[in-house]
Amino acid sequence: MFRKGIVMTDESVVVIGAGIAGLTSAALLAHEGVPVTLLESHSQVGGCAGTFRRGSYLFDVGATQVAGLEIGGIHQRLFRHLSLELPVATILDPACVIDLADGMEPIALWHNKKKWEIERKRQFPGSEPFWTICKLLHESNWKFSVRDPVIPTRNFWDLVKLIQAFRLDNIPSGLFIQSSVVDLLKLTGCYTDKRLIKFLDLQLRLYSQTIASRTSALYGATVLQMAQEPHGLWHLDGSMQVLSDLLRRSFCTNGGQLLLRHKVVGLKVASDQGWKISVSSPNGLQELLANDVVFTLPPQSLLELISDNSCLPSEYVQCLRELPKPSGALVFYAAIARSDLPDNCPNHLQINVKDPGSLFISVSRDGDGRAPLGEATLIASIFTQTSFWCSLDKTSYVQQKEIILEKIVQALYKHMGISYTAWIHKELATPRSFVKWTGRPNGIVGGLAQYPERFGLFGLASRTPVRGLWLCGDSIYPGEGTAGVSHSALIASRQLMANRGLSLNLSS
Ligand SMILES: Cc1cc2nc3c(=O)[nH]c(=O)nc-3n(C[C@H](O)[C@H](O)[C@H](O)COP(=O)(O)OP(=O)(O)OC[C@H]3O[C@@H](n4cnc5c(N)ncnc54)[C@H](O)[C@@H]3O)c2cc1C
Repeated sequence: MFRKGIVMTDESVVVIGAGIAGLTSAALLAHEGVPVTLLESHSQVGGCAGTFRRGSYLFDVGATQVAGLEIGGIHQRLFRHLSLELPVATILDPACVIDLADGMEPIALWHNKKKWEIERKRQFPGSEPFWTICKLLHESNWKFSVRDPVIPTRNFWDLVKLIQAFRLDNIPSGLFIQSSVVDLLKLTGCYTDKRLIKFLDLQLRLYSQTIASRTSALYGATVLQMAQEPHGLWHLDGSMQVLSDLLRRSFCTNGGQLLLRHKVVGLKVASDQGWKISVSSPNGLQELLANDVVFTLPPQSLLELISDNSCLPSEYVQCLRELPKPSGALVFYAAIARSDLPDNCPNHLQINVKDPGSLFISVSRDGDGRAPLGEATLIASIFTQTSFWCSLDKTSYVQQKEIILEKIVQALYKHMGISYTAWIHKELATPRSFVKWTGRPNGIVGGLAQYPERFGLFGLASRTPVRGLWLCGDSIYPGEGTAGVSHSALIASRQLMANRGLSLNLSS
């Protein structure tokens, strides 16, 4: 049944998806007095940075570490702008311990710069020239990024914002715009260090969806130094959900309308140049009208939702069709007594496992709200091909899940000494689970691979060629992670406001 359309004003904005990107954009626009409706298909906000409960355990669905909470970091700047208290969080030190499973001591990513320098000199002798160039690029990128450039540029206003952010100290970034991390290794004479390359491949895969040889040097240099002061990775008290809940509170306080269990099923250009948004809700099918749409779902879903693609230029349709195929994730969610964990178990570990694939492991802290005292949640994720999981029939799917779950339990026994019988709870999520929870097509996660030819200026822009359609989320510059998607939401919101002759600026 089609219910009577909800007619909105000329000023109205509909934000699609209440993950961190959608919540950030919606909160920013509502703060500027724009009438915003935020549509979310799930019964809760947060998307890949949300949580779910199993008995007395609270599991972070995807994201477990947060960047950008330090002074000058994107979350800190956004929260200050929105007059929100920063969530209670502890700096991760080490941010992660990486076990290359090569019989050598695992590598600890210390927050303290000096400790990290000593660690990497011990672990990767002779690699300092590489780290020095990464530091130079990272500092150059950072100074540029806090001046809020608009990237990629698609019109004169974008270009002005890009030029305004540029200073002479950004020249190093400009010089390496098309280089990869491996180019930096070659330039600094470190390309023969196979152990360093293995380490970089593992770490970069987490952030850039690809290995060192295909990761943009500019992106790689930054993510490789995210864990160290003056930046850092943080562990949120309570759960990841607190980030979303704070943004939701700001949005609702500023008059925003949040509609949960409202799934967008179609998008159409309305005759008066606005947008018609078809929504499936508990009340049936509804139609909303809006002047602008902020689309935060993976851009691969745009073509499906805009069934009449004629409103999109054919080159744009082609560009969306040719986007590189992102990965999916297999995620093991488990609970365990703390006494069954290894002594001094860090919060985050990465283990180079061949089969079923390298594991990124997050362990809760005692009393952090995720498990009862004396117990812990343990989440282990692995990259996977989505097509394999989506093509299985029901019986094979169940069998494959059991096989992978068993392999993960074996790997955790082998590498962490956790007994097979120690698990109080265990379950596995696959790309199919991510389709169900987050609506992401085929369960793809983490955005587009950060290849040199696709990063930054060469990426998919938040400004689309269609009037009133803006993109943000983890496929848009600067990419995945809660900090990345917040950044993209800021860019899209500023463009939208500028289009209305208004400005939206965060202080640095
Ligand atoms: C296993 C895993 C581990 C990760 N670890 C980290 C980490 O440690 N740190 C970090 O910073 N990042 C991490 N990430 C990445 C991070 O979680 C994401 O990049 C980020 O949360 C994406 O936010 P988003 O708003 O772009 O998209 P999403 O979180 O996917 O939000 C999109 C929202 O849109 C809703 N939606 C979908 N379809 C529709 C529709 N048709 N109508 C209405 N609503 C719809 C979804 O329900 C969802 O709420 C991880 C991701 C995964 C999967």
